[in-house]
Amino acid sequence: MVLYRIARTASEGFPLLALGGYILAFLLVFPMVFVFPPLGLMMFGMSLASLPFTWVIGKGLIAAESAIATRALDGGRCPQCTHRMQTVRDASTTWRCEFCETCFRPDGRVRSDRIVDDLPVAASGTGAGT
Ligand SMILES: [Zn+2]
Repeated sequence: MVLYRIARTASEGFPLLALGGYILAFLLVFPMVFVFPPLGLMMFGMSLASLPFTWVIGKGLIAAESAIATRALDGGRCPQCTHRMQTVRDASTTWRCEFCETCFRPDGRVRSDRIVDDLPVAASGTGAGT
């Protein structure tokens, strides 16, 4: 599941990386406005033009993470810790791994909130189901 961890790290870290890139671009463009305004305006326009590509890359990373996780979950394994689940996952509900306590949304992405008490656990025996 190295591929899943790479995809998850990339999809989680990309927004911060993009924000850092835009802040860096701002720090470069702002003094350029006073030194050579046409270059500053051109860099500002290029930053604005890159926004849709940044959005597409972010959505692509999320889709890759979701596809890898869903494939592992449908195969009966937790994508995070690779343990085999004891029960079949219901693809319409949030799922929590009994080993690593990671919660997965129906689309395969990890739930970041920690409200996990009401979720079904992939446990052997009594905890699964409604
Ligand atoms: Zn797990």
